[in-house]
Amino acid sequence: MSLRTRLTLLYSFIVGGILILFGVAVYRSISLTVTRQLDDLLRRTAESVYTNTRIDAAGQITNPSLAFLNLPADVFVQVWGRDNILRASSPNLISLSRPLDPAGLQSTLPVFRDVTQGGYQLRVLTVPLDVGERLVGTLQVGTRLDLVVATQRSLSLVLIVGTSLTLLASGLAAWLSTRQALRPLDSVTKTALQISRADDLSRRIPYQGPPGDEIGQLIHAFNQTLSRLENLFHTQRRFLADVGHELRTPLTVIKGNVGLMRKIHEFDEESLLTIEDEVDRLTRMVGDLLLLAQAESGKIPLAIEVVELDTLLLEVLNQMRVLAGEKLQLRLGDIDQVLVCGDRDRLKQVMVNLVGNAINYTPAGGEVVVGLGKTAEMAQLTVTDNGPGISPEDLPHIFERFYRSEKARTRQRAGKGYGLGLSIAYWIVRNHGGRIEVNSTLGKGSTFCIWLPLVRESCSSEEQLKSLSDMILRD
Ligand code: ADP
Repeated sequence: MSLRTRLTLLYSFIVGGILILFGVAVYRSISLTVTRQLDDLLRRTAESVYTNTRIDAAGQITNPSLAFLNLPADVFVQVWGRDNILRASSPNLISLSRPLDPAGLQSTLPVFRDVTQGGYQLRVLTVPLDVGERLVGTLQVGTRLDLVVATQRSLSLVLIVGTSLTLLASGLAAWLSTRQALRPLDSVTKTALQISRADDLSRRIPYQGPPGDEIGQLIHAFNQTLSRLENLFHTQRRFLADVGHELRTPLTVIKGNVGLMRKIHEFDEESLLTIEDEVDRLTRMVGDLLLLAQAESGKIPLAIEVVELDTLLLEVLNQMRVLAGEKLQLRLGDIDQVLVCGDRDRLKQVMVNLVGNAINYTPAGGEVVVGLGKTAEMAQLTVTDNGPGISPEDLPHIFERFYRSEKARTRQRAGKGYGLGLSIAYWIVRNHGGRIEVNSTLGKGSTFCIWLPLVRESCSSEEQLKSLSDMILRD
């Protein structure tokens, strides 16, 4: 059953239920009001007959004349003696010798009953007549129920027809309004199908309605997902091209050197060194890809211990000075003694990636400054360079895997990167319960800042590991 049918049925069911309850309440209250009016009339007539009834010395009701009582034309009165002999009846009952309500005659208390007499429905009030403790007769006052029955009939007709028409109209309104409301969903389905058929992620779903309503939000979320997917496919396609290029270059170099050695029939030391370099580069690349896959799925194995971040930083600086060489100045800024919990090798990798990028992207004569500080709970590591900076268009994407700015991609292989360095750094820092921030001004330089939680008690304790994973989850 379609959503539209279900909504219409639900809506009609609710409206129908309310109408039926309302109809029953109206029917009952009007029936009660009309019956109460009849009962009042019967009670007043009975009182007037009762006060005009006389009893003789023998305790018998004297045959009263009801003619002068001025009774309403549609009210019937019978006065029965103790011996069940009819003593008097109203002029409109001349031909009836049976009691108006035979069963009521036995009652010792006043009682109202609905009876059928001579093909008519009557409402009859039976009042026992007594003198002191002694029962001397019975008075019966009745009137036709036609008015009540007719009122009830026309009321039921109005209610049934009214309810059916309202139900029909509301069902139709629900059917049409749900079609109107759900129409944008059709366009979502159509566009989604077109996208999957044409394999075109650049399409977006148009929406003319208010963007804040539920459908508008759904379409907005769907369009955002499409943008992300498009972006992901785009970067992956670019990555494949990059990886193809990155693989082909070292493979060509290796093949060339092997060919050369075969030609000269001897192992040339220089060719062997080149081959070794290229194989190292390929191994690094495959290792990075595997590490990133593990880190992104949260399955990166971490050997958690207390790490002296300051010592580690000095170690990294010494190694990176070789890379910086004479090209630029690699300087140590302010440094604090800082202890964090983490995997030493992975944290070193983060530092190497950031300092390595700063050295690679900063032109000759530039300067890279590394610093380490702390707040009450966090360690803060900064890598600042006065290189080309990162454009505002690239900035939101640099931590995405395989992302490389257009400049970085087109320049000669000055760096050894392939767009994975910052993704790996991001995931390692995240897996340590920390975060990574970047500030950059085009033409002036960039500052990368890493925040890591300081050691609390000891790192081997389960609480420490738990607090790390809590932080990652909170993120
Ligand atoms: P890559 O292998 O290209 O260095 P990364 O993931 O390390 O990959 O960096 C992603 C991109 O971020 C780089 O291609 C570069 O455009 C930009 N980037 C990173 N660090 C710097 C920096 N210090 N200065 C300028 N651009 C940078």
